[in-house]
Amino acid sequence: MRVPPSAEVTVRSPAKINLALSVGPPRPDGFHPVATVYQAVALYDDVTAVVRDDDATISVEVAGDFAADVPADATNLAVRAAQLLQAEYDVEEGVALTIRKTIPVAGGMAGGSTDAAATLVACNRLWGLQLSQTELQHLAGELGSDVPFCLVGHTALGRGRGEQVTEVMSRGTFHWVFAIAEGGLSTPAVYGELDRLRPLRRVEAPQVRPELLSALLSGRADALAVALSNDLQAAALSLRPELGDTLQFGLDQGALAAQISGSGPTCLFLAADSRSAVDLAVELAESGLCRMVRQAEGPVPGARVLPATVNR
Ligand code: ATP
Repeated sequence: MRVPPSAEVTVRSPAKINLALSVGPPRPDGFHPVATVYQAVALYDDVTAVVRDDDATISVEVAGDFAADVPADATNLAVRAAQLLQAEYDVEEGVALTIRKTIPVAGGMAGGSTDAAATLVACNRLWGLQLSQTELQHLAGELGSDVPFCLVGHTALGRGRGEQVTEVMSRGTFHWVFAIAEGGLSTPAVYGELDRLRPLRRVEAPQVRPELLSALLSGRADALAVALSNDLQAAALSLRPELGDTLQFGLDQGALAAQISGSGPTCLFLAADSRSAVDLAVELAESGLCRMVRQAEGPVPGARVLPATVNR
């Protein structure tokens, strides 16, 4: 299907948090097997794709809160996603991508992965490829462990490297507050620190505790609070001990639970309701313990086209 040159598509894609992240011993290929429960939260990046039918170039511009921290070249995960589609389906057109970032970079919230997911959805529409969700999921898994989840969103169990996702039933809405730290943490460095911290311990195969799944089914924040877990937390705190003060501060201010998000350094807090979330966000913002504070509800859907901007 030929797409008019002026066609553009904007896709909105969420950040993720890990409600549980259980990490097994490293595999021979260097990856760690995980059992994780992801939740998509209402912090979004928007990726706009504009067709270039004069040549097959893929370009990217980055705007928004964290633009300076994101590469605007071929190492950008959004560019890699467009390149993968182009190569797999012999696409002759190019695309100009613009990413509007509001998700912290290298913050353990899958910002790059969600941009890749958004780009798959946008270019699928822009280039008229008509790939199914299953085909997109497969390509997403080649791009990164968290990319398949960013496509589907909501709440899901992730196995393998995290790329094998199945939906998890969850009731209601949870209220989260995020303390975004100065600087990022490299995901491979955090996994390396985990291996350093537990080299002699017999590490069990990763698994998700049934209490977490029951808490999600119940929709009760107090039940979820005691079921959260993250094997990477000790490693992230070992690399950035000051994050412990941020977690404790949130608990002292009434958060039901506090945890490092994924590989960190973002700290996440579960609040009892939206009002408590606002109060906690204000206290954290005034504490001087972090670079900025965000509030978001979850779960929300994965990468989706914004209808008002399609073929505008
Ligand atoms: P995860 O939670 O999946 O481990 P993260 O949230 O910790 O990821 P990202 O925000 O995805 O980390 O960024 C990791 C690195 O990827 C950054 O340091 C950045 O240089 C690079 N990167 C490449 N493309 C992007 C992108 N589109 N957005 C953000 N970072 C990107």
